[in-house]
Amino acid sequence: MKPFVKNLSLEEAEILFESIGEKPYRAKQLFNWLYEKNVTSFDEMTNFSKELRQYLNDTYLLSALELEKSQVSSVDGTQKYLFKTADGKYIESVLIRNDNNEKERLTICISSQIGCAMGCSFCQTARMGFKRNLEPAEIIDQVNHIRRISGLLNNNIVFMGMGEPFMNYDNVLKAADILNYSFGFHISARKITISTCGIGDAIERFIDEERPYNLAISLNDTLSEKRRVSMPVENGFPIAGIAEMFNKKFPVSRNRLTIVYVMRKDNITSEDAKRLKKMFRYSRIKLNLIELNPGDHGLDHPLKEQIEAFIKELEIMNVPVSVRKSFGTDIDGACGQLSGKYE
Ligand code: SF4
Repeated sequence: MKPFVKNLSLEEAEILFESIGEKPYRAKQLFNWLYEKNVTSFDEMTNFSKELRQYLNDTYLLSALELEKSQVSSVDGTQKYLFKTADGKYIESVLIRNDNNEKERLTICISSQIGCAMGCSFCQTARMGFKRNLEPAEIIDQVNHIRRISGLLNNNIVFMGMGEPFMNYDNVLKAADILNYSFGFHISARKITISTCGIGDAIERFIDEERPYNLAISLNDTLSEKRRVSMPVENGFPIAGIAEMFNKKFPVSRNRLTIVYVMRKDNITSEDAKRLKKMFRYSRIKLNLIELNPGDHGLDHPLKEQIEAFIKELEIMNVPVSVRKSFGTDIDGACGQLSGKYE
C-alpha cells in the first residue's frame, strides 16, 4: 500500500519536493490544499504541474479514512462519525456543539489509537483491547472528513476519543503540530487539548519539550487505592507523583491543566474535595466535572444534592470548576461505544 501524504510534516514535505527538483515552498502549497482547502484529490491542486500531480498520485494516498456511518443526537446536536481505516478497522470521532456565552463552540473529539490497552473499568474502548496506534494521517483525516461532511469549521480539538494519546506520543504530537500550522488548518495551540489517563513519563516529556498544547488528566478518584480499581494506570504512575511533578514544574503562565473528574456516588465527598485541593496546591488547574454517562458499567450516579455540595466546597477553596453533561447520550457519545458496537 502507498503511504499517506498526510503523514508528512512540513519539513519532510520540503525535503521531498527538493529531492524531486521542486522548490521547497511547494510544501506550504501542498499543506494549503490538503488542510485549508481540504481537497479530495491531487488533481485539484491546480498550481502544481501535471507531472507533479501525477508524481503525487503515483506515490501517495491522499485520504486515510472512509466514512462508514454518522449519527446526530436529537438531544444536543452532537454528531458522531464512524470511520473505516485502510486495513478495515473502525475508529470514531465526535463533533460537539456547545453554546458558550451565545458563541457556538465547535469541538472535534478525535481518536488516537484503535482500541486501548489502559483498561479503565468505566470505558467501552477498553473492552475492545488494544489493536494498533493510529498514524498521524489517520488522526488528521478525522478533522478533514468532519469539516467536509458537516460544512462547519471547528475551533477546538480534543484528543479524547478512542485510545490513550500518550501511548502514541510521537504520532499524536506530529498530528497536533500539523493541525496547528498556520497555512493549513491553523488551529491555535490553545485550542488543542491532549487528554491522558496519566502516563507520568510522557507527561514529563511533554512539559520538558515545552509543547504548547493544553493538557487534561482524567483523575476520577483522589485516593490511590480507589483509583487503582477503575484506572490500572495508577499502579504504574500514581497520581500523587504526577501532581507533585506539576507542583514543581508547572509555572503559572504555562500550558493549561484541566483535571477531568467523572462524578460517581462514592467519589465526591468533602474529603475528596480537600484532597483534590491539596494534591494540586501549587498548580494552576481547572476542574472539569462530568456527569457519569449511562452504560453497563455498574457504577452509581450521584444525587443532585451531593453534586451541589461537592461543587460548593471546591468553590470555597478557590478551585475553578466547570460542570458538563455527557454529550450525545442518545447516540453512544462516550469513547468507544459506537465502534465497539459496530465491530
Ligand atoms: S478511558 Fe481512555 S485511557 Fe482509559 S481505557 Fe478508555 S480510551 Fe483508554
